Amino acid sequence: MFDETLLDKMSEECGVFGVYHHTETPQLIYYGLQALQHRGQESAGIVSSNHEFFTYHHGMGLVTEVFHQQEINRLNGMMGIGHVRYSTTGESKLQNAQPLVFKYRNGEIAIATNGNLTNAMQIRNQLERQGSIFQTTSDTEVIAHLIAKSMYDDIEQAVKEALSVIKGAYALLIMTNDKLIAALDSNGLRPLSLGKLEHSYLLSSETCAFDTIGATTIRDIEPGEMLVFDKNGIRSEHFTVQTRRAICSFEYIYFARPDSDIGGINVHLARKRLGKKLAEEHPVEADVVTGVPDSSISAAIGYAEASGIPYELGLIKNRYIARTFIQPSQELREKGVKMKLSAVRKVVDGKRVVMIDDSIVRGTTSKRIVQLLKEAGAKEVHVRISSPPVKNPCYYGIDTSSREELIAAAKTIEEMKDFIGADSLAFLSMSGMLEAIGRQGDDVNHGYCVACFNAEYPTEVYQSQQSKTDKVRWGIEDEPIL
Ligand code: SF4
Repeated sequence: MFDETLLDKMSEECGVFGVYHHTETPQLIYYGLQALQHRGQESAGIVSSNHEFFTYHHGMGLVTEVFHQQEINRLNGMMGIGHVRYSTTGESKLQNAQPLVFKYRNGEIAIATNGNLTNAMQIRNQLERQGSIFQTTSDTEVIAHLIAKSMYDDIEQAVKEALSVIKGAYALLIMTNDKLIAALDSNGLRPLSLGKLEHSYLLSSETCAFDTIGATTIRDIEPGEMLVFDKNGIRSEHFTVQTRRAICSFEYIYFARPDSDIGGINVHLARKRLGKKLAEEHPVEADVVTGVPDSSISAAIGYAEASGIPYELGLIKNRYIARTFIQPSQELREKGVKMKLSAVRKVVDGKRVVMIDDSIVRGTTSKRIVQLLKEAGAKEVHVRISSPPVKNPCYYGIDTSSREELIAAAKTIEEMKDFIGADSLAFLSMSGMLEAIGRQGDDVNHGYCVACFNAEYPTEVYQSQQSKTDKVRWGIEDEPIL
């Protein structure tokens, strides 16, 4: 029996998509957001500008639930930005659905972000003490207030001033009536790419969205870079020289779509290499290799290729379960109602199975999958994880459990093996993971953030951030703790 609500994966926060200068801007954003749907399913929104005023629509749910032909028809203009959201900060409600739209002294402004500001609460407290009134509980509104309060009338200067204050992880799209601005934090923690379709420019959290609409990828936005699109063309500048690349390694391990390229590295191929490396580091005698769908299939193929053990579809995902499906009763669960995943009995019965997964967060999912395979007759289940143990929370927009809930923070590998009921359990090493993904930079972590594995956070982390993740009330007097 398996229940999708118990999937205890880390969750991506958001996806952003922007278009500059295309006659079918709303349609392109709609398709772009659909391609980014895996990055957030709670809400979706599009704002477009006809250079005089904005039209927009937001809603709770999937892109196809929020937008129908009539909503798309109501949007007009040659540029726009869109957003899909999974909330890690701010409650899950329509008010927080992005892009957020504000009026300020020079007109309208729309903002869409992916990531998490580490000092949002400090800035917000300060602004509230100075009289600012916030309409949402989202980090993104902090950026809007900073822009609105700037002494600069020029929007580019005002945005740069705001960027010099905010800290943390952000891939940011800002639109005024006549300009589109993109910016990436100084570590480039979250992905953001630039694409082109005919004479139009596109911005997307992942390149898979460019492929969906027949566009080409130009390049990734660089850490600390700001791009401006307006009637004068496209301009790039760095708003800070203090940059140090630290792309989230989990984008490669789990979050991003396999057909996306990040930093020029294809996600599927990186996952295959992770699986190959895992086979080299942790071989085991077995009859079949299977991957937990969908994110671990690539790593399982890599493990199978390197080990010579055949890859089989031992686990099948039911793709047609709505997010709000009717929960089976405890009685039906006990009778074995399988909601999300099923084991393929004819593949695993009587076999020694290597089960590849990308990560273990709380361990409850792994335990259930091992149980599924054993109920389907697997003689042995050897669990191999294509990343190191996750021992620390993420402060950069990824919804991890609190430190206490992270199984690897509390238990040894042997204890974890016993908890999930596997015959053996092994994790990929840090060096193996970094080598397999491929080098992005020259520092010890090769240009990646690996903080959830080794607690080496690439930015300052504030007490309020830690408290928030540990579900303690945010403090007002807040000092950096790392
Ligand atoms: S802490 Fe982990 S999940 Fe968060 S940005 Fe760094 S690598 Fe990614």
